[in-house]
Amino acid sequence: MNYGSEEKLASTFAEELRQRMLGETITLCYQCGTCASSCPVAKITPSFNPREVIKLLLLGEKDEVISGEAIWLCCSCYNCDERCPQKVAIPLAMFALRNIAFKEGYIPDIYSEFASAIYDNGRIVTISKFVEKKRPTLGLPPLQPTGVDAIRKILSATEFDKLQLKKEETS
Ligand code: SF4
Ligand code: SF4
Repeated sequence: MNYGSEEKLASTFAEELRQRMLGETITLCYQCGTCASSCPVAKITPSFNPREVIKLLLLGEKDEVISGEAIWLCCSCYNCDERCPQKVAIPLAMFALRNIAFKEGYIPDIYSEFASAIYDNGRIVTISKFVEKKRPTLGLPPLQPTGVDAIRKILSATEFDKLQLKKEETS
């Protein structure tokens, strides 16, 4: 199959993907649809179809892919990875695409809030005073400090802290 702008993909976006976890294997896809028919997410929502994501990539539609919600819907079950006759590393390509999307500021609010919470508190979920008080009544020990300073050092070393993250609503 000839996608016309395959060269564009090969020269730019594919190179970006190549640097990230086997993303370059998407160029092996011949659009058979085995991934889509094996995908549990595609079975329950028309918003996600792995074959369609790969097709858009092959067409060089990077912006459409990384700004859309589809790449966040893959649940990493690896069904497609097991069955793809061309050994396209679809779940790894999804991870790579999410990393690119994150870096370019296309961050779904929910993940942005999780990331901010980790940076601020060392936990994805902020523990309320109510929960802290409730734990002993359920026989649970007090929560230990999260070592947030060490977490921030790691986030800083990976430049994660430079991302524009959405702060959790605290009111
Ligand atoms: S199963 Fe593999 S070759 Fe077939 S459409 Fe999906 S990614 Fe492409
Ligand atoms: S790994 Fe993702 S794309 Fe592949 S079958 Fe599972 S949910 Fe679908």
